[in-house]
Amino acid sequence: MSSRIIEWLRALERATRPEHPDLTAALARRWEELPEGVRTPNQMLGRRTAGCEGTQGVFPACNLACTPCYHSREANRVRVDGGHTVAEVDAQMRLARELHGPSQHAQLIGGEVTLLGPEAHAAALEAMIRHGRKPMSMSHGDFDYDYLEALALDPRTGRPRFRHLSFAGHFDSTMHGRHGIRRVRSESELNPHRRRFCEMFERLRREHGITSYLAHSMTVTPRNLDQVADVIRDCRDYGFRMFTFQPAAYLGNPSRWKEKYRAFGDEDVWREVERGAGGRLHWRALQFGDPRCNRTAYGGYLGGRYWPLLDEDDPRELRMRDSFIAAFGGGLDKDGPPSVLALRCARAIAREPRLLPRAVGFTGRLLGRMGAPTALARGRPRPVTFAMHSFMDARVVRPAWEALERGDVAEEPEARAAQERLRACMYGMAHPEEGRMVPACVQHSVLDPEQNARLAELLPRRDGAA
Ligand code: SF4
Repeated sequence: MSSRIIEWLRALERATRPEHPDLTAALARRWEELPEGVRTPNQMLGRRTAGCEGTQGVFPACNLACTPCYHSREANRVRVDGGHTVAEVDAQMRLARELHGPSQHAQLIGGEVTLLGPEAHAAALEAMIRHGRKPMSMSHGDFDYDYLEALALDPRTGRPRFRHLSFAGHFDSTMHGRHGIRRVRSESELNPHRRRFCEMFERLRREHGITSYLAHSMTVTPRNLDQVADVIRDCRDYGFRMFTFQPAAYLGNPSRWKEKYRAFGDEDVWREVERGAGGRLHWRALQFGDPRCNRTAYGGYLGGRYWPLLDEDDPRELRMRDSFIAAFGGGLDKDGPPSVLALRCARAIAREPRLLPRAVGFTGRLLGRMGAPTALARGRPRPVTFAMHSFMDARVVRPAWEALERGDVAEEPEARAAQERLRACMYGMAHPEEGRMVPACVQHSVLDPEQNARLAELLPRRDGAA
């Protein structure tokens, strides 16, 4: 065979690999880093994803007051500055691409994202997309349609500059200062604000054809624990595709710690989430990082009835999961013409041919869980994901991290557990100056205060307010 043909075949082989080679390498690295205890068959970190990412130090300030607040008390002394944000996001996402490979989820997060002007917000999202991230803007949701439209449309042409936007709206009664409801007494008082948030995106779709993915995020404290179920029941038809709950932790600004946050445990929160969801949530089917940090249950609704995507008790479902991962790994590389995509797909199935019969069986069981065919005649299934992210307290994180930095393994059980969780962290923040990702717990417990003090000198607020 001539060398030109060999070269062509090699190029074809590379171009039709189901998963991008950089992602394959990043997943393998992440898997190697994981503690033995979390390398379980249901573990997705290092097999399906290299981890979620969040930006840090890019716009620390916020215009609401939360109890608790995970940002350091210095955060509000930093001016929101679009130029700084875009440059930092660019550098952080470049490193994220290098370490995690392409097509990973990244949150544009800090203080409040909508304190950025729409142009800077759009430029930050564009930088994230340029570096192969799937960005999600994290907001308190207290902004108006004009802002959303200005973010979504190119001001020169009036045409959409994004085809799709992802937003997480954080709504809960621990937040104070929202327009139209300065002080919130109960979660239900926020429902009109939750609905309005979803309606803005629905209007954007109607008027400009821009689709969206909306997540609802909520901090859980002893005061609102018993309202979690009602929030889900009341708001699950508004248009949110995900409900995520964060049991409050002693993290960030100590002057905002107002309640006994450890008066309940993760099980108590999850029980309420299940009560609101209206069905058992099969979170053990897919694990992202350490189960003490994260629970995620995929599923949805059809005709008011909850259906889980995977039945965690059925070995056939778990075999389907394993085959899917064996075939598609971190996901099909979607870059390229349809013919190349078809070849990638064919190669994915060829490396795990058992996927096809298993997928047929799975589809039948899934339709059964949905109540098909009767329910399907009445409507379309609507996917909704439920998740819980349990941050650790700063007093645990700091010594565990410092010991990890020295290369020490803690003896004491609580510190040891914290180290295991940090090593299996699913939510990292890129630090270009150090060339590494740092767990968000560490960011908020250890790094934020000094970093924000430095930023306050670099970007002092012009109004002099602290
Ligand atoms: S940020 Fe903290 S709680 Fe979240 S996954 Fe990482 S270590 Fe676990």
